[in-house]
Amino acid sequence: MAETNVPITMARGDGIGPEIMEATLFILKEAGARLAIEEIEIGEKQYLSGNTAGIPEHAWESLRRTKVFLKAPITTPQGGGFKSLNVTTRKMLGLYANIRPCVTYPPFVDTKYPGMDVVIVRENEEDLYAGIEHRQTDEVYQCLKIITRPGCEKIVRYAFEYARLYGRKKVTCMMKDNIMKMTDGLFKKVFYEVAPEYPEITADDWIIDIGAAKLADTPENFDVVVTLNLYGDIISDITAQIAGSVGIAGSANIGDQCAMFEAIHGSAPRRAGQNLANPSGLLLGAVQMLVHIGQNDIAERVHNAWLKTLEDGMHTYDIFTEGRSKAKVGTKEFAQEVVKRLGQKPTQLKAVEYKTSAKEMKKFVYKRAPAAKKALLGVDVFVHWPEQDADALAAKVSSTANTDKFELKMVSNRGTKVWPGGFAETFKTDHWRLRFKAPDFKTPVGHAHIIEVLNRLSHAGFDFIKTENLYEFDGEAGFTRSQGE
Ligand code: NAD
Repeated sequence: MAETNVPITMARGDGIGPEIMEATLFILKEAGARLAIEEIEIGEKQYLSGNTAGIPEHAWESLRRTKVFLKAPITTPQGGGFKSLNVTTRKMLGLYANIRPCVTYPPFVDTKYPGMDVVIVRENEEDLYAGIEHRQTDEVYQCLKIITRPGCEKIVRYAFEYARLYGRKKVTCMMKDNIMKMTDGLFKKVFYEVAPEYPEITADDWIIDIGAAKLADTPENFDVVVTLNLYGDIISDITAQIAGSVGIAGSANIGDQCAMFEAIHGSAPRRAGQNLANPSGLLLGAVQMLVHIGQNDIAERVHNAWLKTLEDGMHTYDIFTEGRSKAKVGTKEFAQEVVKRLGQKPTQLKAVEYKTSAKEMKKFVYKRAPAAKKALLGVDVFVHWPEQDADALAAKVSSTANTDKFELKMVSNRGTKVWPGGFAETFKTDHWRLRFKAPDFKTPVGHAHIIEVLNRLSHAGFDFIKTENLYEFDGEAGFTRSQGE
């Protein structure tokens, strides 16, 4: 009995998108991929017709039904309030894991890093990409960095499950917990909570700055790297670029229900319509899609034919080197060369085998821990105050807002303590944090005390712009000290 075709949603995208999608679909068809393809139109045309999200309603309907999306790159028009379609799709469909394998193919594709075979697993929904930004004063803008325990657990488990499924030996956590002790600290904490469940896999960590430097210098020392959204965005581009060309890496965006597969590069509008672009990134994204839907036989056939094509020196302009390559081919011709080699394996590059199915990855079910014992110890009130003298501010605030239950304990500016005992040298902007606690620092307070403080500040003419409550969770402080406190 013939196997049924798996429904997928497909978008040809903008710029070089239609050409590389055509080449990819041609290879998939010739390789015998069992797909029922639904095409949707998203991107530039939609944006320019007034849809600021770039995706029409019926496209969402298709995506939520097929749950598998093969997407060519999209041009996001500059300025004008257009939202990135990629970020919207990832977040609306809960695609929490972004997987980017970056491999070098020496001696066939020029590279400074012959031994590189790294997979970046990037958290895709949280961090500064939550997009919660506010202007608070004349001089200060703020972007909230949101990190959650379920978010950390999902991505960290995904990285270890991925490593186990694909026989990888090491998972490295990259973050910056020396500075962001609570948010990045949670990410690392969760990483080392989960790691012992995978005893066969080495777990280590690097602070992102030196980690990124090491990754760019000696990528052969890394295997799977798991990291937060912004760091992952940056290091995955660095790794792809140093692998040889952004044109040869594909990526998967995976969620519990839906998944999206694409090239890592953009729509390269300057190369569009010239039959020049390398379709390999999208093709390798499609290979990840085939594994995802359980068509490992086809994934293996396509991937090995592609490796053989590289090995035989059939190269698009971006990876062409005189002397090393045999022929400079266009997008279409490259696809034809891959099709000619379907059924063949590379003889010098390592052939791939997709033995296990992505379906074997353990599904993560988050269990919320029992609620902690939470005590309210104080409040940080942020005020817009255009003057410069911290002592004068503290005196004015203390005289109007202090009560016998709640008093001003500290003032900071951009996170640095400026009262009591501040330095004249510290630069100050118009955005001040006033930290209120009980006189003995530890007696819990109530919401009514905070409201009382805000009322008093308001009557004294202060523009308070936001508050952050200071909680203790099971006796552990849920807030950091300011620098110098
Ligand atoms: P880009 O990745 O499109 O192109 C950068 C350069 O890389 C190109 O000039 C070209 O020299 C090279 N290149 C990229 N893909 C190639 C390929 N397949 N073959 C050969 N060479 C290739 O980056 P950009 O110019 O910064 O962005 C162009 C547009 O793409 C922007 O509108 C951006 O918003 C969008 N974009 C979309 C996605 C996506 O849809 N996933 C990702 C990144 C950028």
